[in-house]
Amino acid sequence: MPLSPPFYKPIAKEIEVFEHTYKNKLPVLLKGPTGTGKTRFIEYMAHQLGKKLITISCHEETSSTDLIGRYIIKGAETIWIDGPLTKAVKEGAIIYLDEIAEARPDVIVAIHALTDHRRELFIDKLGETIKAHRDFMLVASFNPGYQKGFKELKPSTRQRFIAVSFQYPSPKIESEIIENETGVTEALARKLVNIANKIRNLTELGLTETVSTRLLVDAAKLIHSGLPKRLSVKVAVVEPLTDDEEIATALTDLCDLMI
Ligand code: ADP
Repeated sequence: MPLSPPFYKPIAKEIEVFEHTYKNKLPVLLKGPTGTGKTRFIEYMAHQLGKKLITISCHEETSSTDLIGRYIIKGAETIWIDGPLTKAVKEGAIIYLDEIAEARPDVIVAIHALTDHRRELFIDKLGETIKAHRDFMLVASFNPGYQKGFKELKPSTRQRFIAVSFQYPSPKIESEIIENETGVTEALARKLVNIANKIRNLTELGLTETVSTRLLVDAAKLIHSGLPKRLSVKVAVVEPLTDDEEIATALTDLCDLMI
């Protein structure tokens, strides 16, 4: 655990909400587009609360076995290894299931009894049910936009969580984040935020994802380390957003004018 807290700039009332969900050990769903500070937020909260954080980045192959545990063969023996969820349940850590909707459906089934009053984990391979440590907490993240209705979370699953929404911060806060993360001047941070907001409003481009705070932080880092501004914005903001040459050219022209 780092000695100094991770830098996190609050956007709304999320810290207060989280402190109360932690006190009540209610599961939390962090909703919002990629790069809006969900991961940084949970790292910050875990540090503030003095809790161990176990993060699992879910992807389409992530199964309940990956989370709960498995038998492995060691020499002549077969031994059971707890997965990260089982460890968190036993030790009383915070588990963060990043992009939970990406995981296989059996993951949702596995966490079911942990997300209600039972606070239990059923380990089917051992035929055991374990009670969660009183400090155990389940946190998941979900990106509603980019699932495009394909990998949605079922309403019955969503209703098991307290949901906290993450959006792009106000220009003032977003430029403070960029300054703090990278050491660039306020004037430059403001310019980057203006570019982001301009592109975020260009809904007609039909971009799957738009400019996140993460991309702005990356662009600012490149500029701060000496890469020319226009090139930095092109590679950190424009190119990650689109593979369409015409759109990329239009966005590059726009950014060149604004930086
Ligand atoms: P997400 O988990 O939502 O995809 P991250 O937490 O990884 O996003 O955020 C991406 C980056 O953006 C962080 O590494 C950090 O530099 C910056 N960031 C975004 N929001 C904040 C915030 N509120 N406070 C501090 N840094 C932030």
